[in-house]
Amino acid sequence: MSIRIRHDDCVGCGKCIEACPGNLIKYDDEGLAEMRRPRDCWGCTSCLKACPVGAVEFFLGADMGGTGATLSFSRAGTVSHWSVSCPDGRAVGIDVDGANANKY
Ligand code: SF4
Ligand code: SF4
Repeated sequence: MSIRIRHDDCVGCGKCIEACPGNLIKYDDEGLAEMRRPRDCWGCTSCLKACPVGAVEFFLGADMGGTGATLSFSRAGTVSHWSVSCPDGRAVGIDVDGANANKY
């Protein structure tokens, strides 16, 4: 498992660095986020949820969308939007409204 940080979108806020429980992300020489040890990532997605500009993508395994598929995250108010993009062009989105969490 690993993530990809899109340098063109990163604003260097450091929130992903603070969020990673494995200390796997660091600043590069330009002050932008960089993955330190990709092989150690276990896919907790904390960095995706912490990034305010959606610059972090997570690579999904073959059993979760196919090799090369990526998961991205964005938030609008209380709604979290998860998006899966597949190499063949397919895309799936899931919205979760935190305001309705734990309402069963
Ligand atoms: S997915 Fe989790 S373990 Fe992997 S880099 Fe992001 S915060 Fe760290
Ligand atoms: S949280 Fe996003 S914008 Fe901030 S340093 Fe990490 S990748 Fe860059």
